[in-house]
Amino acid sequence: MGWLVGRRIAAAILVLVGLAPSLAPSLATAQEPRLKAVATFSILADLVSQVGGDRVAVTSLVGPDADAHGYSPAPGDARRVAEANLVVVNGLGFEGWLERLIKASGTKAPVVVASKGVKTIAGSHDHDDHGHDHGEGDHADPHAWQNVANTKLYVANIRDGLSAADPEHAGLYAANAAAYMQKLDALDAEIRAALATIPEERRRIITTHDSFGYFSAAYGMRFLAPQGISTDSEAGPKDVARIIRQIRRDKVPAVFVESIADPRLMQQIARESGAKVGGRIYSDALSAPGGPAPGYLEMMRSNLAAFREALS
Ligand SMILES: [Zn+2]
Repeated sequence: MGWLVGRRIAAAILVLVGLAPSLAPSLATAQEPRLKAVATFSILADLVSQVGGDRVAVTSLVGPDADAHGYSPAPGDARRVAEANLVVVNGLGFEGWLERLIKASGTKAPVVVASKGVKTIAGSHDHDDHGHDHGEGDHADPHAWQNVANTKLYVANIRDGLSAADPEHAGLYAANAAAYMQKLDALDAEIRAALATIPEERRRIITTHDSFGYFSAAYGMRFLAPQGISTDSEAGPKDVARIIRQIRRDKVPAVFVESIADPRLMQQIARESGAKVGGRIYSDALSAPGGPAPGYLEMMRSNLAAFREALS
């Protein structure tokens, strides 16, 4: 009896083994491990996920509503970087903490610099006289994504990086990137059309730190900020006084609170200058998923709506 059962089990196993090869392809497709990409901050993570689609699992080191300039890597970050197949960074001196983290992680993953090829602009003023140890690239304004044309370059660099790391799916990445670039073109046209309705002398805005230089240059809006192109050093009383004088002299209509910044500075400046406080704007980070700026396109549209509301 035991012998018979044994034979039957053996036969069943043989049948299963025989079936396995025909099942294998469909199972492999469903379970094929996704490429692991680590982006340094939330805006970049969204762009990577737009291009990577289902094929790429993206994590962001600096999360929504958080400031990437002065970020201190968390204990788990080195492990996330070590396990990544691809690391995507902004560059232009934005992530001053990154080099140490990459070294500490021991990662061999390729690093994609999303801003590669961007025509940089200098910050309107910087805070180099505070004695920081600056490497090269610190004088360029890092917030290149505020010009949609630059974001198209980011997307192209991300597409190329994903394709090099995962050539088998290069066609998918190319198609996703092309579809997203069409959305970026539509966004660019929308921004230009919306700002054209605001009288030129009213296209002036104060933000906490100098993060809209590229937007300014591309779309003809003037931004002033008490803080420099980084948030590493706080605005001093002299910076604040200078901004208040400028608001009064140039009749700047509104000041805006950035999502990553302490709102009190802007509230003080508004009180002392007579400018009104406009809505919350997103310069360096997305909002959390349920918020008004969960992705790059939504972020740019949310900012545009805030500018129009305060200036029209
Ligand atoms: Zn910034």
